[in-house]
Amino acid sequence: MKSRWVVTLFLLALAAPLSAQPRVHVEKLADGVWAGAPDKGANVGWFVLGDGVIAVDAGADAATGEAILKAIAESTGGKPVRAVVITHAHGDHAGGARAFAAAGARIICQESIAGQLLALVLQSKGGADDPLTAKPNAKPVVEAISERSIMVDGIHDAQVFFLGAAHSKGDMVVYLVNDKILFIGDLAANGRMPFMQSPDVDPDGWERALAALSHVPVDKMVPGHGQIGPTSGLLESAAYVHAVNQLAHKFVAAGMNDELVGIQVHAPENQIKGLETSEEHVLNVKAAVRVEREKVAKKAATPAPTPATPAKK
Ligand SMILES: [Zn+2]
Repeated sequence: MKSRWVVTLFLLALAAPLSAQPRVHVEKLADGVWAGAPDKGANVGWFVLGDGVIAVDAGADAATGEAILKAIAESTGGKPVRAVVITHAHGDHAGGARAFAAAGARIICQESIAGQLLALVLQSKGGADDPLTAKPNAKPVVEAISERSIMVDGIHDAQVFFLGAAHSKGDMVVYLVNDKILFIGDLAANGRMPFMQSPDVDPDGWERALAALSHVPVDKMVPGHGQIGPTSGLLESAAYVHAVNQLAHKFVAAGMNDELVGIQVHAPENQIKGLETSEEHVLNVKAAVRVEREKVAKKAATPAPTPATPAKK
């Protein structure tokens, strides 16, 4: 009896640290290119550039960020992580940036979210195991890109670009030209409905961003959410965002209030083919209606330009 307890305690002691460490399911996408699906938060990616590594997104929290850094070290033979590109300032993508800063990586984002991201990185969760608390001399710096940045080493040609506000105000994608691999953040998802309820969402801008990306040859896509690899989510997400926008434009033009929108979205003529009208879909439509209403109101409030007086000769 006693020995059984000893064995049980021994197994519990073994299991405790293992369960506390977040896991990252790693997939190799090409030579020197990987993607990972952590237990918590959005998918991430990384690739070798020169003698270091560039990561895309940082996981949901510092512990996940550290687990991603461990997976990066294991897959690349311990190459240093030079930078992490944060696709946007949502916590499930950016929460782990603190661990990357502590590891000495530069933090790169779109300029409209630089302050927001720095605040997120500096926000301490406390605890002796916090990666930045452990390094009091580390002073994180966030670097911002306004529209485009290119990083080349003769093997990988990495293009980071901003296509305008879409899923949020500061979405960036990372495209590896030679490998035709696209890290798309939350602009597209595989097998899931895009999330359109961010307070800074721009549904029309999102449609334009995905239309621009439809011209880019993509063999493998790493979306923030859903399966890593397939590219089908690119067209599916574009079709969904377009359909939601059409509904939002129609509902706002008809002057519907939120209550009516909630009813009308279930009407047969407003159903999206092949899509169940879930609560999530209704919330997406309501969010798109809110933005469209604001745009219409802003347009109405802008005084029409007065015709220029012809110059006297
Ligand atoms: Zn997001």
